[in-house]
Order: sequence, then structure tokens, then C-alpha cells
Amino acid sequence: MKTLAKLHPEQGIWMDDKPMPEMGHNDVLIRVRKTAICGTDMHIYNWDDWAQKTIPQGMTVGHEFVGEIADIGIEVAGLKVGQRVSGEGHITCGHCRNCRAGFRHLCRNTQGVGVNRAGAFAEYLVIPAVNVFPIPDDISDDLASIFDPYGNAAHTALSFNMVGEDVLITGAGPIGIMAAAIARHVGARHVVITDVNEYRLELARKMGATRAVNVARETLEEVMRELGMVEGFDVGLEMSGNGQAFNQMLENLNHGGKVALLGIPASGTVIDWNQVIFKGLVMKGIYGREMFETWYKMVSMLQSGLDLSPIITHHLPIDQFQQGFEIMGSGQSGKVILDWS
Ligand code: NAD
Ligand code: ZN
Repeated sequence: MKTLAKLHPEQGIWMDDKPMPEMGHNDVLIRVRKTAICGTDMHIYNWDDWAQKTIPQGMTVGHEFVGEIADIGIEVAGLKVGQRVSGEGHITCGHCRNCRAGFRHLCRNTQGVGVNRAGAFAEYLVIPAVNVFPIPDDISDDLASIFDPYGNAAHTALSFNMVGEDVLITGAGPIGIMAAAIARHVGARHVVITDVNEYRLELARKMGATRAVNVARETLEEVMRELGMVEGFDVGLEMSGNGQAFNQMLENLNHGGKVALLGIPASGTVIDWNQVIFKGLVMKGIYGREMFETWYKMVSMLQSGLDLSPIITHHLPIDQFQQGFEIMGSGQSGKVILDWS
């Protein structure tokens, strides 16, 4: 079968011909229809320090996908061949304390599809049946293929109550923009998002942000004054991984503000702890998606009118994968979909 694999220890990704994956008794074989390129895939493509330490050479990568079930293991119940599915890319151990308590997103032994084991950029993918998530008929393949990052956005945005609150999102990458749309959908008042990339700020405006602020040109203090905000933001979602952005957020939160942190900062990033302590901020780190509460909420929000379709800006057939990675790397895109069918 065709796959995209990290064949060489240098920048790039390569089409490879691999044997069909083997399936265990509790596994499901999925024929992949569409995949999307994640920021993580760009780290692997660029072969940065993290990727060099993490990715086994030769491995098939990718973890954002939709497909249909091609075969099921003999112990699998509740799924059937032909069903349209996506899947949770975090494979959890099932025996640690958090797994046993039902907090699978907190598993200390998580393995990532396309990071620690063979990924979804392939004609066929095998994952445990418990990780498979059936997709209702009224949700398109395109949207189903981005449930993984949509789930990051949903997990983060739904961490704190936003009804009637003023929300600040730092980082208008695909995940930050989707979080802005979710914040509006669930009833936030002002949703202000920051970035330094005009293309992405424009996309955020299109998707419902009250204000999309280029912090290279405009300060948050000015924006808050214009919006008539006196005390500061109630909820912050850090989605840039940029230390400066995070510090700006801390400065502009109200006392008692809540912060959910998804963006991954460089090691050694320094923040002003006095902001945290004297304002009595509450901070929560976010990893992945809640299994499977986040997934159910994602479906429900789409079915109750959340429109995420503008975030998908590019579609390419799989043979043009190289172009897809270049577009994603340029910063002039939302989500880029690669079509395998
Ligand atoms: P992305 O890299 O596409 O988006 C980050 C955005 O931040 C970019 O648009 C960039 O221009 C912007 N940015 C840079 N400097 C900024 C500044 N000073 N102020 C405001 N914005 C600034 O990433 P993404 O795919 O949207 O993901 C968002 C973040 O979440 C990334 O850091 C990613 O690594 C992380 N992530 C974490 C998890 C998790 O489970 N914790 C999962 C997925 C992604
Ligand atoms: Zn576990």
C-alpha cells in the first residue's frame, strides 16, 4: 500500500510502498479516504530536534483522518465493515490509574498514531477498536478528517465556562481559529484572537472572532479600550506556543481569570509568575482530547450550527502531497486536506 513515511533523517517526507498493516483481535482496519496535515507533521517534515528524538526512521506518519472500516478483529463489538469513521490518535494503556478511572486523556503511557507508531498517511490504518469514532451521516468527510485538531480546540475552549465572558485567544493557527468559532458558538461575548500572520487573522475574522489583532501593529490594551472592556479578559486560551503571546495574555486577564494552555512553548520560556499569583489565575494544561467526551461534543456542536468549513482552505490529491506540505509550511493556509481515494 501507498504511505507517506519519514524515510530519511533530513527535511522532507516520501511516498513509500509498505505491506498492509497487521490487525489484532481488538483492532480495526480502516481504509483511509482523507487526511489533514497537522503542525506536528510539519515538525516531522522539518526534522527538528523534537522529531529527531521522537520519530522512528522509516515510519509512516500522520494522524488526522477519515475513512471507512475495511475489517474488524474477531473480538470487536459495536462496529461494522463499511462504517465511516475517524479515530482518536492517542492510544492509551488501559491499566494506569487514570485510564482505569476513565481519564484516558491523562494516561501516562500514551502512544501517538503517526508519532510513536504507524500513522494515517496511508491507504490503510490499524488502530484499536476503542479508539475508533463513527461519524454521523450529516458530517462531511472534510470535517471528519480534522476532528483531531478540532478536538484540541474543543477540549481547550470547553475547559472553562464562556457564557457571557470575554475570551482572549493567543495564536490564530488552525486550532486557535477553530477555538474562536467555538467560543462564539457557546455564547462568549467578545472573542479576541491575536497573531502576527494577516492571512490567518483574516480567516479568524471570517470565522467569528470579534477582533483579530495583529500584535505587531496594535496592542491588546487599545483593543480592550475600543471594546469598552474595563477589567480584562475572563478566559484565556493559549494556542501559539509563543512566550511573548502568553505573557501578553497574563497581563490582560482579569483577576480570577482562567487560562487553558494548549500551545507548546520552547523549553526555558519565562513567564511573569506575579501575574498568576497576585491575580489568582487558574491555569490548566491541555493534552489531546477527552476520550470520548470531546468527540461527542464536537459532533453536537456541528449539528447545532457551528460552521467550521472555512478553516479548510486547500484540497489536494495525495500525489501532490509535496505541495500540500509546502502550503502548510508557508503559513498562508488553514487546514490542508490530502485526498487518498
Ligand atoms: P500553528 O503553529 O499553526 O499556530 C500557531 C500560531 O501562533 C501561528 O499562526 C503563529 O503565527 C502564531 N504566533 C506566533 N507568534 C505569536 C505571537 N507573538 N502572538 C500571537 N500569535 C503568535 O499551530 P496549531 O496547529 O494551530 O496549534 C496551536 C499550538 O498548539 C501549537 O503550539 C501546537 O504545537 C500546539 N498543539 C498542542 C497540542 C496538545 O495536545 N497540547 C495538540 C496540538 C497542537
Ligand atoms: Zn494509561
